[in-house]
Amino acid sequence: MSTAGRVTEWVPRREGPRIGGRTVVRDDVIEVRFPYTGRLVGTVAKATAEDARHAIELAAAYRSSLTRHERYTALMRTGELIRQRSDDWARLITLESGLSLADTRHELRRTCDTLLFAANQALVDDGQVFSCDITEHGQARKVFTTREPLLGVICAITPFNHPLNQVVHKVAPAVATNNRIIVKPSEKTPLSALAFADTLYEAGVPTEMVQVVTGDPAEVGAVLVTDPRTDLVAFTGSSTVGKQIAASAGYRRVVLELGGVDPAIVLDDADLDEAARLVAAGACKNSGQRCTAVKRVLVQSGVADEFVRLLVARVGALRCGDPLDPDTDIGTVIDEDAARGIEAAVADAVGRGARVLCGGEREGARYPPTVVDRVSAEMPLVTDEVFGPVVPIVRFADDGTAIRIANASRYALSASVLTRNLDRATRFISELHAGSVNVGEVPGYRLELTPFGGTKDSGLGYKEGVIEAMKNYTNVKTYSLPWR
Ligand code: NAD
Repeated sequence: MSTAGRVTEWVPRREGPRIGGRTVVRDDVIEVRFPYTGRLVGTVAKATAEDARHAIELAAAYRSSLTRHERYTALMRTGELIRQRSDDWARLITLESGLSLADTRHELRRTCDTLLFAANQALVDDGQVFSCDITEHGQARKVFTTREPLLGVICAITPFNHPLNQVVHKVAPAVATNNRIIVKPSEKTPLSALAFADTLYEAGVPTEMVQVVTGDPAEVGAVLVTDPRTDLVAFTGSSTVGKQIAASAGYRRVVLELGGVDPAIVLDDADLDEAARLVAAGACKNSGQRCTAVKRVLVQSGVADEFVRLLVARVGALRCGDPLDPDTDIGTVIDEDAARGIEAAVADAVGRGARVLCGGEREGARYPPTVVDRVSAEMPLVTDEVFGPVVPIVRFADDGTAIRIANASRYALSASVLTRNLDRATRFISELHAGSVNVGEVPGYRLELTPFGGTKDSGLGYKEGVIEAMKNYTNVKTYSLPWR
């Protein structure tokens, strides 16, 4: 990466939006601090509404003529550059997010997968052909389809929890389909998005194709979402903000990837040790800050005590501490305010009769993995999204009750079922309200390629993942030709 990503000797950087290949510098800045110590990691200039309009103007005036092979090469090269500098990247993401190096290294592996899949999909022409002589009144013609980039600009708005891969999931499919995209990353973690843009440029992506606008979300977000030249808004973040964006977007395509309170459902025939391992990882990795983190553990009563004992041992063994220490499993959450919110949600549950079995003691932005037992399905700890490493245990008697509890949520993102019984597994797959159901895995298991996304308050059912994003980012043109 040419500038932003080299962090071997860390000096706070003075950064700014990437508009038309230039870094915009302004006195009005956002400070980015390492959540573990509060140390200044960098400042990022706040773009004005005028800057955002300028970015749209440049993008709208540009048409990419990159061939499929050129797009493939640029995306593959971007992945190579990230791999070559993975130590610097991991440190950058850790510094701006407080995620442990173990977590950010995992994010980098996922990012390289996203780039690999987008590069390969750029080579695939999924046009269809229909013969027209297939009914008695048919004709000697064929109908063809082809996918074209959008006429207008894509606006992408991303959350803090995977500072790089969330951005790559929006941008790589846009490059693969020859679109123009403007990213507004989270103001909490803008540095990775800026460094990623630089890496794309270095790999040969034209600067008008990908721009990054940092700033006050309400000010620049409103311009990007409502400008008539914006054809599509791809938003990942909370349900509250997603619904506001949907309301203001008006007559244009909106893809929403929102929150979740995903259940892991442990049935009485499960391998309990394996279930405890998966639930501990699913709830606590990335400091519990994943839309698909396990946010409710539904356990069948007959095995609940044994499962909880195994789970507490697994969760208690996770090492929390300095995110930059390679031996740390769990770093901080995004900031002290977030940690206080998690602490308050757990205290509320305890006030309603729940019991903390391990963890629970906050220090600054550090909130340790915390198992909370005796949670009832109606407590806000499990009805609201608590974005941190909390593992609430809800007991149930039979499969029907587990499905009823799981489906009572206003969210429907992902779920997992831990069972060795195929009949029970298939019943859960068909009856759960969820965009994905993983049997014998965590709710968040996915490939970066495969369709991903939820319904109800988790999204409108339009999926992401590289293939679906490329469909969202293109218009199908149908044409027909005489065919003898
Ligand atoms: P958030 O909704 O607070 O912010 C997301 C983005 O929206 C940020 O870039 C923010 O600056 C921007 N934003 C805020 N107000 C805006 C406005 N008025 N106009 C335009 N943009 C605005 O979410 P967060 O706290 O960054 O991320 C956590 C949330 O994201 C959780 O709810 C999590 O479940 C969700 N999430 C969902 C997925 C998914 O794929 N379904 C993935 C990751 C995170």
